[in-house]
Amino acid sequence: MTALYIHIPFCQRKCNYCDFVSYAGKEVTIDAYVAKLAAEIPNTEFSTIFFGGGTPTLLEPRHFEQILKNVAATFRSPSGHGGLKTAATLEITAEANPGTANQKKLRELRQLGLNRLSIGVQSFNDQHLQTLGRIHDAATAKRFYADARSAGFDNINLDLIFALPGQTLAEWKADLQQAIELNPEHLSVYNLQIEEGTPFWERYASSLPVTRYSLPTEDEELAMYETAIETLTANGYHHYEISNFARPGRVCLHNINYWRNGNYLGVGAGAHSHINGQRWSNPNCIEEYLQHSTRMPPNDSRVATDQRETLFLGLRLLDGLEQDKFTGFETEVSELMKEGLLEAAGNYYRLTRKGLYLGNQVFARFV
Ligand code: SF4
Repeated sequence: MTALYIHIPFCQRKCNYCDFVSYAGKEVTIDAYVAKLAAEIPNTEFSTIFFGGGTPTLLEPRHFEQILKNVAATFRSPSGHGGLKTAATLEITAEANPGTANQKKLRELRQLGLNRLSIGVQSFNDQHLQTLGRIHDAATAKRFYADARSAGFDNINLDLIFALPGQTLAEWKADLQQAIELNPEHLSVYNLQIEEGTPFWERYASSLPVTRYSLPTEDEELAMYETAIETLTANGYHHYEISNFARPGRVCLHNINYWRNGNYLGVGAGAHSHINGQRWSNPNCIEEYLQHSTRMPPNDSRVATDQRETLFLGLRLLDGLEQDKFTGFETEVSELMKEGLLEAAGNYYRLTRKGLYLGNQVFARFV
């Protein structure tokens, strides 16, 4: 069963750390963009839908309706029994930014069949939010969360970022505590990545002296990650992927499919697809995307090195992967086990705690 990813590349303002395909000040193209998106979705069955961005909640309910109407008519139950299901029975997630939708709009989205929100809170500390260049403060994020609950969303993820410039361990603990108090079903915690081409890259990766806040050291960053694992698991969240924690039964089905290297179709600017071992992506530029013919031909297609992808994606899950999937990689496995980064568990290989911290070193062996 194929999952559907829908990319919405519009943002009110660009955050200082962001290298996603997202643009500020292009809202005039939203109508044309949505029409293009809706036309790009083929008449087939999908298991989950994920509106990612960018800021999907900048769209109006009528835009979501236009897209979902196109999809819902072709949706079938993931159980394969063939009966047509309404969109409301599936996992339909939208990423959301605090301050970009009021309760009325969120209610309308819920009524259209969206049943999961992933809210980009990032921090509850106003000073850090300002440094990140976010458009909201902590109070707005909390109000937004309350509005989402009142609007009927009973499956909510909060995104948090740690290892922020000048952030202390105590501040990170306070962020975790405030998130837990809100009691979301799911939490994603990421360490800040300094990506080339972003204002943060200029500030932190250039040879110029850092004038204000410096980044936490590697040891401090590790302590923050360990604190997240310990705090969230102690509060009833199951740690199921390197950066993801869920209440029982609330894992993100869309992302699980991605980590299991399943089939997914990505529509919209910059969206990636993976169908039956073939991968391709759409152009990042909105104007270029709008000019393409309706069904996107693979512009970046290659015969997938699918086994490698299966390994390094699947190892992100804490359960790991069946040992027989590692055929041909016996040397890498044995080296990683000697280094204490990988371990056998039943007939699975999975990352050790050390391997979780050093995941990128493990994945690099399979690339
Ligand atoms: S809201 Fe998200 S996608 Fe938009 S600029 Fe900020 S980090 Fe990037």
